[in-house]
Amino acid sequence: MIDVEDLIALVRNYNPRTNADLIRLAYAYGLAMHEGQFRKSGEPYFTHPVAVAAILTEQRLDDATIITALLHDTIEDTRSTYSDITAQFGAEVAELVDGVTKLTNLQLSSTESQQAENFRKLFMAMSKDLRVILVKLADRLHNMRTIKSMRVEKQAQKARETMEIYAPLAGRMGMQWMREELEDLSFKVLNPDARNSIIRRFLTLQRESGDVVHKITADIRNELEKVQIEATVYGRAKKPYSIWRKMQEKDLAFSRLSDIYGFRIICDSLPDCYRILGVIHQRWRAVPGRFKDYLSQPKNNGYRSIHTTVSGRDGKRVEVQIRTREMHEVAEAGVAAHWAYREGVRTQNPFAIDPGKWINSLTERFGEGDHDEFLEHVKLEMYSDQVFCFTPKGDVVQLPRGATPLDYAYSIHTRIGNSCVSAKVDGIRVPLWTRLKNGQSVEIITAEGQRPQSSWIDIVTTGRAKAAIRKSLREEDRGRFIKLGQELARAAFDHVGKKATEKALRTAAKMLGLNDEQDMLARLGSAELTARRVVEALYPELAREDLDVVDASRPVLGLQDDQAFRRAPCCQPVPGERIVGITYRGKGIVAHAIDCPALAEFEEQTERWVDLSWHAGRHAAVHTISFELTIANDAGVLGRICTLIGEQKANISDLRFTDRKPDFYRLVIDVDLRDVEHLHMVMTALEAETDVAQVSRHRDLARKP
Ligand code: MN
Repeated sequence: MIDVEDLIALVRNYNPRTNADLIRLAYAYGLAMHEGQFRKSGEPYFTHPVAVAAILTEQRLDDATIITALLHDTIEDTRSTYSDITAQFGAEVAELVDGVTKLTNLQLSSTESQQAENFRKLFMAMSKDLRVILVKLADRLHNMRTIKSMRVEKQAQKARETMEIYAPLAGRMGMQWMREELEDLSFKVLNPDARNSIIRRFLTLQRESGDVVHKITADIRNELEKVQIEATVYGRAKKPYSIWRKMQEKDLAFSRLSDIYGFRIICDSLPDCYRILGVIHQRWRAVPGRFKDYLSQPKNNGYRSIHTTVSGRDGKRVEVQIRTREMHEVAEAGVAAHWAYREGVRTQNPFAIDPGKWINSLTERFGEGDHDEFLEHVKLEMYSDQVFCFTPKGDVVQLPRGATPLDYAYSIHTRIGNSCVSAKVDGIRVPLWTRLKNGQSVEIITAEGQRPQSSWIDIVTTGRAKAAIRKSLREEDRGRFIKLGQELARAAFDHVGKKATEKALRTAAKMLGLNDEQDMLARLGSAELTARRVVEALYPELAREDLDVVDASRPVLGLQDDQAFRRAPCCQPVPGERIVGITYRGKGIVAHAIDCPALAEFEEQTERWVDLSWHAGRHAAVHTISFELTIANDAGVLGRICTLIGEQKANISDLRFTDRKPDFYRLVIDVDLRDVEHLHMVMTALEAETDVAQVSRHRDLARKP
């Protein structure tokens, strides 16, 4: 186990102003907490956090990150708590340790490739601070380096996870060495035969053609010396995993694989990079199409380099990368280059990518915000508008922030959304409007015959769920409207002494130019069409007779010949009720009920008052009255109410819901009535119905004549 003073020395190398006392405290704290715990290998457990911290010193990270590494398993595995760590090491470290713990607790049970990208996003979404991911990657790297002591099945699972999630994550953050090492360690577990055979072939190759790496390195150095350019040249065989992947991708045998060696030339300045490129291309033949200039166009994780491939003496290809020292640092450390210290200060590497810009480039969202502040504690905002949840099988589902179990259900399948009755989050029953959080597992409980509720529209956030709910509600409405239309048609036909047979309805629909009788009934039920027009379509002569009773356009006495007449929409008086006429300029005479509160404003204008009275004869059922109803939300109630109204030979001309509660609906129904007697018949019939909680005349003073 690395001694605390050795660890501090590693930090001091790049950060002389490190808070050594705090590192000592964290070391002692971690050691005490993990006391008595051992790794599978038999070593004391604390060797692991110390090794993770040491890995992070190679990336020259700040004190908070090093201390987090020392404490990263304490909350999870010991009696230590978040508040304990806050008290001893401050809020910053506590937040970081807590972040690592959350990632550790994720159950990545499904590592199918199509899920891997979601997992990587989940990681970023759950890490409020980039340093959490850096610690988690170092943690995984150490676990992979020591994987041999694990159980065999566990090894395979960890290796798959590493290959699918952690290695690409390291690559995305620009840490190529870490990516390669994680891949190779996983490859060793997942496919040891393939890896061994590649290593054997390397050895054979070396026996046949000698140490190629050494020879080419020397050649390059020699060429550079001739033109007096200072540079460091490294050469290496590519990692077995990347060779194996190339063999798979290009379906090539090892012997036919070109560029299995890679060389790096690290120089001092940008002009040198291009001069070196000239030297290389003069000495060896460049392979067309393989030249890439990431100096003028860096990758979005800050990577800058010149890449070229040349063919050597025996036609073998080698890849050469050329870059400056500072660029190399970024290429190795990636985004972490920003935290790196050198000689006690944050390095001002001009090529280090601003993590804020990096994040923006990943999400293509360019925010404002103070970048210096941002750098202090780089927040991973890239997926902050997303939330990632698990299915019971362990797949990750990506949803917009604010999504509820209903959104989740609809994202799985419309059928599951429509038949959703309740949901469990992490095994606990929750209301459907619960907002989901990252990493929660969600289970939807469905029931046959369940239908979407209109209140669901306000619960869901995804367009997909909203559209599905609306569609279902519309279909349900249509069913209801058809039923209502049937009742309306029956009442209207009865009224003229005819039967509303299917054939009669179909013929009427045809006469009205509609698709079929269902279409007609739905329109009738939704008041797009009046029952009168349906009857008229079949029996024009009967309809006219019905209208002959009292002239519906002039049902009152007291009008002058040229005066237009209307019923006031505020009080909706009907024949039999006492009325008063008020003249409105340009609108003729409007009849108000004698007790209408709207009359108060005409008290001083006696010249506008007109004496009116209803005709004594039989009136047509054309006087619309609005009823306000509260009814039980049970199957069939609405249908019964419409039947009741139909039985009273009254026509429903409109119906609108004003409130839908799980147990009660409130609605306003417009009914066309003959007179006050007819009104009482309808109200009495409605009041007698058990499922009607309340019925009243709906008077709306806001409706001006
Ligand atoms: Mn660990």
